[in-house]
Formats: sequence, structure tokens, C-alpha cells
Amino acid sequence: MAGTAVRGRLTWQTATVGSVADETPSVRTIFLEVPDWAGHRAGQHVDVRLTAEDGYQAERAYSIASAPGEPLSITVERLDDGEVSPYLTEELRAGDEIEVRGPIGGYFVWDAADGGPLLLLAGGSGIVPLRAILRHRERSGSAVPVRLLYSSRSWADVIYRDELDRPSDGVTVIHTLTRQQPPGWTGYARRVDQEMIAEVAWPVAQAALAYACGPTNFVEAAASALVAFGYLPRRIRTERFGATGQ
Ligand SMILES: Cc1cc2nc3c(=O)[nH]c(=O)nc-3n(C[C@H](O)[C@H](O)[C@H](O)COP(=O)(O)OP(=O)(O)OC[C@H]3O[C@@H](n4cnc5c(N)ncnc54)[C@H](O)[C@@H]3O)c2cc1C
Repeated sequence: MAGTAVRGRLTWQTATVGSVADETPSVRTIFLEVPDWAGHRAGQHVDVRLTAEDGYQAERAYSIASAPGEPLSITVERLDDGEVSPYLTEELRAGDEIEVRGPIGGYFVWDAADGGPLLLLAGGSGIVPLRAILRHRERSGSAVPVRLLYSSRSWADVIYRDELDRPSDGVTVIHTLTRQQPPGWTGYARRVDQEMIAEVAWPVAQAALAYACGPTNFVEAAASALVAFGYLPRRIRTERFGATGQ
């Protein structure tokens, strides 16, 4: 049985694009139809494989944007000089097929039974698995209190802006806009640092569970600031998307 489950996760499956939705000028959500999708947990990712006509293949990891129980979707940020993300965000159309395998990952996940409070720290597209966590919390009826600190370059770059703007009981969203702020902006306007963490994080005594996700430099800065603030490393889970992204 265990062998079957492992084979299921590691086998490439054909996914058909159901639809696509622009989140920002450079970010797109892709809704995928996978006939034998076994389901996933909040925070997991999939590998995506593209094959060119000449047989050349490229693989990249993408966090799952949807909650457990929802159809599979991913949200991809276009890196203009990247190999795979420009194709996924600009060329892919409804009805096209790609290959996926997963779900992958058992560490950067949150199940409602894990409790909280939750401190979510996102840099750029690092919001994707944290959005799955937020949706899972909502759908499971969890009342765990959440603080989300979300770092974006500008207001126009905020992914899932409408969804995050909708008030949700027990969820506080704090934005920092690192490069450009709209007129009258009174929020944070710098990269996440020690002082910001001290203002935003749940007090150490509450033993919150922290999840930090985004470009490697963002995740490292956020996690070190949390440790310096007093969070235990084993209460901090991190997911690094790579050197780029923000
Ligand atoms: C677990 C995980 C989850 C992820 N989830 C998401 C997600 O939800 N959404 C998302 O948008 N991304 C996510 N990523 C990142 C994603 O996997 C890709 O790395 C990203 O989309 C860029 O791929 P690309 O092919 O477009 O760029 P690449 O072609 O891989 O290039 C990436 C960058 O590296 C530079 N580069 C490439 N080759 C070289 C070289 N030889 N020397 C120097 N620089 C080079 C390029 O200029 C570019 O800026 C995730 C990554 C991981 C590990």
C-alpha cells in the first residue's frame, strides 16, 4: 500500500489547463484538471514538467495555491529572463496540457489540527502556499488566530489582493511595500527587519507557529529576525523559492 502511495506522488501525470486568471501584471493563477489527483495538504508543492517539440524538458517546483479539497491550482510569477515562468504566465492557454507530479512535501504544511496562533511571513510569490493555509483555515472552520506579514514591491504587485482585503475573523494582514507606495500610504515601506518582526509577531510566550516563504534572502532575514526575537527554531518552518523573486 505504502509503495502505491509513493509511486502515485512521484509519477508524472497529465494536467489539462482549465482556465487562467491574472493576479497582477506579472503573476497568473493556472487552474489544472488532473483526473487522478489524490488531494493535497496546505503548503505542499508540485513539480511541473514542460516538454518542447524537440524533446527538451524543463522542470520547476510550484506551490499549490488551492486549499485541500479544492481543485489543483498554482500561481506563477513571470521572471522576464526565466526559462519556464514566461511560458506558464504568457503562452499557456485553457485546454493545453502540462505534466505535474505531487503533491510533494511534508514539512512546510499546516493542518487545522496543528493549531496556532499562526504567524505567516510572505515575500512576493511566497504568499502562494500561505494562501493555501489561509483558505484551509477558512474551509475547515478553524478559529486559530493568524497574523500575515506580506512583503511586496508595490501595491500593484500584491498577489490575491482582493481575497486578502476581505475581512476574515481572526486574520490580520499587514503589508510592507518595499519599492513604491501609493500616495498617502501609512504602512511599512521597507524590507522585513528585526524591528518590524518585534512589532508584528505574536509574543514569544504564545508559542506561535511561524511559516516564512519567498526568495531565499527574504526567508533568511525573516527567520533570523524571528529567532533573535525569541521564537524557537523548531516553531519556524521555511520554504525558499530560490535566489530570485523579489
Ligand atoms: C518549493 C518551491 C516552490 C515554489 N513555488 C513557486 C510559486 O508558487 N510561484 C512561483 O512563481 N515560483 C515558485 N517557485 C520558483 C520556481 O520553481 C522557479 O524557480 C521560478 O518560476 C523561475 O523559473 P524560470 O524557469 O522562469 O527561471 P530560471 O530560468 O530558472 O531562472 C531563474 C533566475 O535565475 C537566473 N539564472 C538562470 N540561470 C542562470 C545561470 N546559469 N547563472 C546565473 N543566473 C541564472 C535567471 O536570470 C532568472 O532570473 C518555487 C520554488 C520552489 C523550490
